[in-house]
Amino acid sequence: MFKWLQKKNQKQGSTKDYIHMQGDHAVLVDSVKVSESAGKANEAIPIPLGCWVWMELPGKQERLLGFVYLDSTAGLSVQGGLESAENVEELAGYIVRLRMPLPPIRQLTFEEISNRGLPPTPSWLEHYGPQPDPGAAWHSDPHLKGLLHASFPDDIQVLVHDGEPRRTKREPELCWVRILTTEQGPTRRYIFIQQATTLTKSEFDRKYEPNDVVYVAKLLNTPHKLKTVCQGDTIRFLAGGGLQHPLHVSTQYLQERVRWFIAPCDKCGMGECLDPPSTMIELRFKTLSDPEIKMAEPFSFSSFCPRCGGHQFLSRDEKEVSL
Ligand SMILES: [Zn+2]
Repeated sequence: MFKWLQKKNQKQGSTKDYIHMQGDHAVLVDSVKVSESAGKANEAIPIPLGCWVWMELPGKQERLLGFVYLDSTAGLSVQGGLESAENVEELAGYIVRLRMPLPPIRQLTFEEISNRGLPPTPSWLEHYGPQPDPGAAWHSDPHLKGLLHASFPDDIQVLVHDGEPRRTKREPELCWVRILTTEQGPTRRYIFIQQATTLTKSEFDRKYEPNDVVYVAKLLNTPHKLKTVCQGDTIRFLAGGGLQHPLHVSTQYLQERVRWFIAPCDKCGMGECLDPPSTMIELRFKTLSDPEIKMAEPFSFSSFCPRCGGHQFLSRDEKEVSL
């Protein structure tokens, strides 16, 4: 496993306080109350982005009535006022930064919005620039569950790379990207090899179900050593398929992936590779001339997993599964 990733995995700790307040009516957060609120919180509740909400405030008798929005610097926030506010203009004095797990929060019903005479969006929202699409499919994508940034719901860490480190001599880097959209890619198919997994066939089929979603995103970080990608680039990545982190993929990889079945790594379960299969073949079978490789249908080969050094197996034919 990449050394930096090993250290990161060891460091992952508990969630920090999820809430703080600022603005005209700053409220000190009582850590005991925060814990109580967090205890009552329901992590399964989707973030009601772009909605009017009721929210309990630690140490306050009255609820907050506010609107959930994205502050491009501070993250996911609720701005509003106490429920006793008499008009909409008063609903702007409190700003609460949301962290996971969410505090007790409930979306207003249509009737409540109507009774209070609330507009679809508050007038101050325009000051915060473009807002994420609350209906974006990736917010509820099971493959991204728990991976999206708690305060920036379109942001996610992706393993960005130049290709296999054994070829490029440069390790992948974990970088933040902002998802822009999704598109249909090649259907990624996998081979079940009983000796190479501890999963039963049905568990394997659930974990490695054929998936054709490709995420398109903007790279937010400046990679330290990578040469093929820069901050601001539009990249594509995949999720699911036994990946610990979503994986950056090249256009060539996507074009070739449709022709291959992959038996995931027998140690870590990674079901994708860093280089397109043709590049992997070229690196591993230098003694074969190109025509020989091209003629070898069906072609299959095993490869060391780029993440942990286990074994992956690639085949152009699902039946070609002998190791
Ligand atoms: Zn592995």
